[in-house]
Amino acid sequence: MNIESRLAQIGSLDDAETGGVSFPVYHSTAFRHPKLGHSTGFDYARTKSPTRSVLEAAAADLENGDAGFACSSGMAALQTIFALFSQGDHLLVSLDLYGGTYRMLEQIMSRFGVTASYIDTDDLDALESHFKPNTKAVLVETPTNPLMMVTDIAKISAWAKRKECLLIIDNTLLTPYFQRPIELGADIVIHSATKYLGGHNDVLAGLIVTKGEELSKEVAFLHNSIGAVLGPQDSWLLMRGMKTLALRMERHQDNSIRIAAWLKAHPAVEEVYHPALPHHPGHEVQNRQSSGNTGIFSFKMKDVRTIEPILRHIRLIAFAESLGGVESLMTYPAVQTHADIPLEIREAVGVDDRLLRFSVGIEHIDDLIADLGEAIDAALREIGGKQP
Ligand SMILES: *Cc1c(COP(=O)(O)O)cnc(C)c1O
Repeated sequence: MNIESRLAQIGSLDDAETGGVSFPVYHSTAFRHPKLGHSTGFDYARTKSPTRSVLEAAAADLENGDAGFACSSGMAALQTIFALFSQGDHLLVSLDLYGGTYRMLEQIMSRFGVTASYIDTDDLDALESHFKPNTKAVLVETPTNPLMMVTDIAKISAWAKRKECLLIIDNTLLTPYFQRPIELGADIVIHSATKYLGGHNDVLAGLIVTKGEELSKEVAFLHNSIGAVLGPQDSWLLMRGMKTLALRMERHQDNSIRIAAWLKAHPAVEEVYHPALPHHPGHEVQNRQSSGNTGIFSFKMKDVRTIEPILRHIRLIAFAESLGGVESLMTYPAVQTHADIPLEIREAVGVDDRLLRFSVGIEHIDDLIADLGEAIDAALREIGGKQP
């Protein structure tokens, strides 16, 4: 069945007792045993809980994996996966990385003796030269945020298999609607479901999907043992959001491509980073491995003095962190999302102080362009620049 249909019908057949098309929220943390040695399949809610189970089965199905795990946040999902590693293990990780993931690796995992090297994961020479005998996994974001660097998943998967490394893909930005890394050879997919999957800026959640029986068992053990699981109410809210994912992603994509093209032609803008634009270095790989584009992209202003007034003058577009919701949000990565990444790494990646990141919502395109256009004009007036 097509993914649009599977998304819309999440949980709709699972409540056989009543036929309810929206699966109920089971708050119970304890489950009665019929008799000694017998279980309904549910014993204690950290291990398994009915509403969360429906979500987890949907996640595994959508990503074409073997098992799904719902966590209390994207970071909780990453922490659970990092617990696969032990003292002395080394990871290869995308250079343009989500700030929170970088912080967890450098300030927490490092204390447990797990180290990481940050590289362009699409560069096989860089992977080879940073590979060590103790390298156990590659963690890739594709596209990255905020610079939208693309990694060829099939290519890195073949490399990782040769090196006997796990391939972990953070698929937050594209979602299984546009990209399914397990089909391209990944072992583990991670999501901050707080973003597009939830989609309404109102639920914090993370998902893990694994491929392979042994790995799925290992992650199930960690998920239950660590306990950073998603509660029943949030599991329901996330499924409710996911039902409309296909429609939302289409509109996010459409709006973001049109605004990116409009900004590319704007005289006050120096560069636009969007894989859908033909000049983007990841354009060709992105088109090959994904069926569409995410709704976020970044752009660099020519004059750093325009940044503060633009963020002050946008009205429909909110100046806020996060991404992937129906409401448009704009953020300033150098200060807001990437503050924990050292300046030299930020500059090596290109996250400089003229860069703005735009998570384009599903509002009408004309209203978004009008809002952004007015904010840029007002900023140019304030700095005494040329009027467009
Ligand atoms: C937001 C985000 C995370 C962290 O997820 P939370 O739900 O905020 O804990 C991880 N990776 C990426 C790519 C993200 O955008």
